[in-house]
Amino acid sequence: MPQSTEYYAVHAHMRAHHPKAGRCEKCGREARTDYATLVQPPTRRREDYLELCRSCHKRFDYGDECAVGHPFDAANTYWWGGLRHCRACRAARARERRERQASA
Ligand SMILES: [Zn+2]
Ligand SMILES: [Zn+2]
Repeated sequence: MPQSTEYYAVHAHMRAHHPKAGRCEKCGREARTDYATLVQPPTRRREDYLELCRSCHKRFDYGDECAVGHPFDAANTYWWGGLRHCRACRAARARERRERQASA
């Protein structure tokens, strides 16, 4: 699937503004990492990403649970851009944003 220009713009933004720590945020291992997008369409907010090692990232893309550990079952899965995503994570992100705005 060809990735959109926006996808590259977002990843360039992440590289420029949020250098990776080189440690997986899921298993804690120091390894080569990539940002996994928790919500779609992709945003430029750091909190919408998890830095994952290759094996956790693969699991996130193809396994039976999301990066945080929610199950990718029928009720919790939505599709965007040809990839599956976690409804629980999307809902949690939306809630955090609302709470931040309310307290600002
Ligand atoms: Zn990992
Ligand atoms: Zn999730």
